[in-house]
Amino acid sequence: MASAMLNSTIAGLNTALIGLNTTTNYQTVFEELSKSNVHLNYAERLWASWYIWMGNDVLATGVMSFIMHEIVYFGRSIPWMIIDALPYFNKYKLQNQKVPTWKEQWQCAALVLLSHCTVELPQIWLFHPIATYFNMDYGVPFPPAWKIAMHITVFFICEDAWHYWFHRALHYGPLYRNIHKLHHTYSAPFGLAAEYASPIEAMLLGFGIVGIPIVWVSVTGELHLLTMYIWIILRLFQAIDAHSGYDFPWSLRHILPFWAGADHHDLHHERFIGNYASSFRWWDYCLDTEAGADASKKRREKKLAEIRSKKAQ
Ligand SMILES: [Zn+2]
Ligand SMILES: [Zn+2]
Repeated sequence: MASAMLNSTIAGLNTALIGLNTTTNYQTVFEELSKSNVHLNYAERLWASWYIWMGNDVLATGVMSFIMHEIVYFGRSIPWMIIDALPYFNKYKLQNQKVPTWKEQWQCAALVLLSHCTVELPQIWLFHPIATYFNMDYGVPFPPAWKIAMHITVFFICEDAWHYWFHRALHYGPLYRNIHKLHHTYSAPFGLAAEYASPIEAMLLGFGIVGIPIVWVSVTGELHLLTMYIWIILRLFQAIDAHSGYDFPWSLRHILPFWAGADHHDLHHERFIGNYASSFRWWDYCLDTEAGADASKKRREKKLAEIRSKKAQ
């Protein structure tokens, strides 16, 4: 099986490099591995050296996942914090009368960090054994770019559908009050607020991000951990940018009209109803759950037209 072969690549390299272990520094492992594996590219050698140096695949994936999540989440939020602090950008802010204070941002970051270190840590630990049980690859060489792009496209489309339905369900009275209300603390969101949510919500909506690829690999037998990382990084960018509160003339939604972007989700936070999808606009458009004044006007006009046509009959 392809995955067994690929994963065994690291095991194979491991045996070849016996004697090099955690007491050897990472740099030495990388240099030794590079000598005998000229067919691997630089990134693949870095990746394989990491697994060999760690000597524990579960721990290697867990540590790498945690660090990646923290760097991307907080790293991506910093530019938005700077933008919030610069009055020049206020003209692009969707709810420009509501700029978050440093105190609000700090409180939000503290809760997010706490949930990353408590609720998410065991899940990150469990990810490797579960994913490899379903044959996910994490060996070298990496899959071709076209395959990575294809898998990520599938995940974006499926996750958006998952998010739409479960997020919509979370707006049902008791579920909203007990679970989702926390995420709606900020009616004018900002980047850091993307993961400001209850652990139940994080698990439910997080399944769309992590669970869908696991279901995919269990059915198709094809998925590499690198693809999973690129997917999660892109989805984190999507979530943080959607919460940024800024819509620029060069924002992606102006290039891809079906891309949701910040103005879609900002309206959701402002109005509390409508715009439930994460990445794309099609679910809200087709099921008539778009939020905002324009959408309400259209709905009103549609209803009036229906009433008029009934009267005319
Ligand atoms: Zn909501
Ligand atoms: Zn939100």
